[in-house]
Amino acid sequence: MLNGKVAVITGGTRGIGFEIARKYLQNHATVVVFGSRKETADKAYALLHQEFPNASIDAMAPDLSSYHSILEALTKVKSTYGSLDIMVNNAGVSANDRIYEYDPENFEKIMALNVNAVFYGSKIAAEIMKEQGGGVILNTSSIVSLYGQPSGCGYPTSKFAVNGLTQSLARELGKDNIRVNAVAPGVTETDMMKAVPKEILKPIIEKISLNRIGKPEEVADAFLFLASDMASYITGVVLPVDGATII
Ligand code: NAD
Repeated sequence: MLNGKVAVITGGTRGIGFEIARKYLQNHATVVVFGSRKETADKAYALLHQEFPNASIDAMAPDLSSYHSILEALTKVKSTYGSLDIMVNNAGVSANDRIYEYDPENFEKIMALNVNAVFYGSKIAAEIMKEQGGGVILNTSSIVSLYGQPSGCGYPTSKFAVNGLTQSLARELGKDNIRVNAVAPGVTETDMMKAVPKEILKPIIEKISLNRIGKPEEVADAFLFLASDMASYITGVVLPVDGATII
């Protein structure tokens, strides 16, 4: 489904991003994963290379809080692999602090990664994609972008912003043949969820129509579909992959 395409996945070293990398490699894309540290990027590279020994894989660790660091990394991808066809802005962090205890610095940290880095990655990718005649930008949102959550307001705030960026850029970039979509996962079995206390998780699972937490590979399937030509007429959507979570 992605033969000959070059894809970058931020937060591609574990969880949902790692499964997106695997799906894209299974479908013959060149995949560059961005990790937060060189060691985790190298580790993900080793795992992916072991599973896909003949595939074109790369791993980098640009500082996602820096526009110039992302610019340097994406420029390198373009010059090394010839194009940037799929940009997946997936890296994200969450926090559960109540408003009374919320340290403003922590709020800013969430915005820096979950919003600013998505803007930087989209802006630079759009410039490259416009020049080459098109491309696909995909963002990882969350179902909390539809409902909010009862504590940790920074995280849903950031994901509402991701939806705003997705829908606005879809309208702005359509004429340049760039599609922009987001996937809004529900509760998904990754390290991020392992940090959530059981008492918070249990009532959430009770609200999932399919009565279970999602698997990262199920979320990654949506990223595969939206990146592929099967979604050639789909742009500006925020696709929930949440087993019909009725909050
Ligand atoms: P995870 O914690 O397993 O992975 C997060 C990824 O982000 C990692 O690859 C990590 O390296 C990267 N990352 C974290 N901080 C970074 C930083 N400062 N700089 C660069 N990279 C950084 O979590 P996940 O569940 O796979 O999350 C991936 C995306 O899915 C996030 O945007 C998250 O908000 C979203 N999401 C997750 C769930 C869930 O239930 N797991 C639900 C909805 C949305």
